[in-house]
Amino acid sequence: MTTVGFIGLGIMGGPMAANLASAGYDVIGYNRSRPAIDKLVEQGGRAADSIGAAVRDADIVVSMLPDSPDVAEVALGEDGVLANAKDNLLYIDCSTIRPDTSRTVAEQASPRGVRVLDAPVSGGEQGAIDGALSIMVGGADADFAAAEPVLNTVGKTVVHVGPAGAGQTVKAANQLIVAGTLELVAEAIVFLEAHGVDTEAAVKVLSGGLAGNAILDRKGTAMLARQFNPGFRLELHHKDLGIVQAAARDAGVTIPLGSAVSQLVAALVARGDGALDHSGLLKLVEELSGRADQ
Ligand code: NAD
Repeated sequence: MTTVGFIGLGIMGGPMAANLASAGYDVIGYNRSRPAIDKLVEQGGRAADSIGAAVRDADIVVSMLPDSPDVAEVALGEDGVLANAKDNLLYIDCSTIRPDTSRTVAEQASPRGVRVLDAPVSGGEQGAIDGALSIMVGGADADFAAAEPVLNTVGKTVVHVGPAGAGQTVKAANQLIVAGTLELVAEAIVFLEAHGVDTEAAVKVLSGGLAGNAILDRKGTAMLARQFNPGFRLELHHKDLGIVQAAARDAGVTIPLGSAVSQLVAALVARGDGALDHSGLLKLVEELSGRADQ
């Protein structure tokens, strides 16, 4: 039986770890706060009370953590993944972080005999629950092949996109597209409402044409109902748009629409709305249009 150490059992990591346990993997989970660990145990996993306890006996370690400093600490820290890894461990980081942090982890892991993949995901909480994530993977060919059974358990579209860090670069592009589309869907909804159009009918017909997109399909109804419980928090998307902007600058690429939506997301986070779902962009569009109380 393959033992998988799983670190970070939040909105995404919790259901991913549970799906691995259901598929027959021996999953040993660690999270900073205890309730998430207890939940995994109820779902067929085992509890670890430290990173070391999750990693020591693992053949594969998966992490699903918020941000680059979290991954740096968990992977490279004194009692972290590399410090506790058995020889030839396969370490798959599914967090969305800076490409250069992924490359640093891979570089430091190699001399210790640890194989590393960056494997950020897209598909949201529902995709994690359904085991239907889209996963973009950076790293060596042989390590990708070794990781495929695990990744295919939590994902439906699993693609090797290049060497270490490449998965994160593709994920940054994903976050640019998602933020821009969310903003345009939010603007369209406020626009339609201001014209007194039946928005449910409008969303239905828009979904079938060239304007159709996954945001409209999956978030349209909640946006019309002003339900902004996460899902994907604005503060995480703010982090991701920082990654996108830095990476665009590194490549000498201009992203005018991406920069505009970055500022709108930053404004929502700055005023205290960071815990809302990213579809909360709609609130700001309404306020900028003087329609918040309608
Ligand atoms: P989350 O905050 O719900 O989960 C992160 C978990 O990591 C928390 O349970 C936290 O307690 C734990 N954690 C933090 N630091 C830790 C540490 N040092 N040791 C152990 N546990 C620690 O976040 P999430 O929504 O699950 O997102 C995780 C990652 O996945 C982020 O990088 C995010 O950008 C990305 N992502 C999220 C979604 C989504 O829809 N939520 C979709 C795709 C990608």
